[in-house]
Amino acid sequence: MMRRLSSVLAVSALVATGLLTPVAAQNAPQHPGGPCIQDQQNVSLESIYFYDDVVSELDRIERSSHGLVTVNSAGQSGEGRELLYATVGTGDTVFWIQGRIHGNERLGTQSALKILDWLTSGDPAASLIREELTVIVIPMYNPDGAEFVTASGLKGIRGSVTPNFNRDLNRDWEIFSQPESIAFWHLFAQTRPNYALDYHHVGEAHVIQGTNELTQFQIGHRPIAVSRFTEEQWRTQRAMTMVVHDAVDHIGSVNVTRYGPAQDPGFDITNAVISRMLLGGNAPGLPPAAPPGETPIDHTVDGALFFEFRNVGQKGSGLLVQLHIVSTKALLTEVAEATLDDQDISGFDSIPFPQAVSCGSL
Ligand SMILES: [Zn+2]
Repeated sequence: MMRRLSSVLAVSALVATGLLTPVAAQNAPQHPGGPCIQDQQNVSLESIYFYDDVVSELDRIERSSHGLVTVNSAGQSGEGRELLYATVGTGDTVFWIQGRIHGNERLGTQSALKILDWLTSGDPAASLIREELTVIVIPMYNPDGAEFVTASGLKGIRGSVTPNFNRDLNRDWEIFSQPESIAFWHLFAQTRPNYALDYHHVGEAHVIQGTNELTQFQIGHRPIAVSRFTEEQWRTQRAMTMVVHDAVDHIGSVNVTRYGPAQDPGFDITNAVISRMLLGGNAPGLPPAAPPGETPIDHTVDGALFFEFRNVGQKGSGLLVQLHIVSTKALLTEVAEATLDDQDISGFDSIPFPQAVSCGSL
């Protein structure tokens, strides 16, 4: 049920294989209703990964990795599924990658698995990353949400399932009401990551603010208010954003934006996973970032981004997965080469913001 894509596609190969064409087609005006997915639209789930696929893919990757990858469980979901993660690399710097904390945001899972697959390869960049970094890959943070069958017969809701139904796990890292949050907090406390990435989809159609140009990829550089970052973290956030932007912005018709309204001082989601990783256990004025009964740890990540990709039907998913891969590889490489501090961030303020538009208006 899982269609294999070559796990390593250079940008030139992307163009050569025609993977860029679908996005160009999506950008064209469509009637009625495009570019969003419509209720009646037959969205093929043929290449979408669900929990069983995560189990079998992680098993396959671990077995064929000749000891490079180990797969473990951080605990169990509310419905008893294993919260699986893979570890690859032996370096001191720990890089955390998570996908599908929102169960209906599907492409993060296969993107994370393809990155993991590539990290086991003979590519010199992958070897360097394995040497310098320890990469933790969580392909499906919220398996219960991913598997939940809705009234319309489709799988996938945003939140977890039990003990609280449809609780947003990305708003749970202050009260830790769900078993998934507690399990992954323990993994965080145990591994103390230095960097983190979190894969999401954004459901509405967005354009570059003030234009008619569709944006496929929004870089979440600011999960918390800018004033909450340390000076070093804010520089790292901008450096990481530039690395991602530069890696993908020149690809075909891809338009990269910075997530969030341009001016929104209230944009400050402190109970999201990577937000709390950035804030650590002792952020002033905030509840402790530890489950009840646990001692907050004194650890913050140096930098953490979230990615918001367009939510599309089958047609554009191949390109979006490749954009995850190209951008994540670029970030991992930059961190492994220890060149993030040298990154030119002068172009940061020129990266545009997105603007939501109603479906069918393009
Ligand atoms: Zn999301």
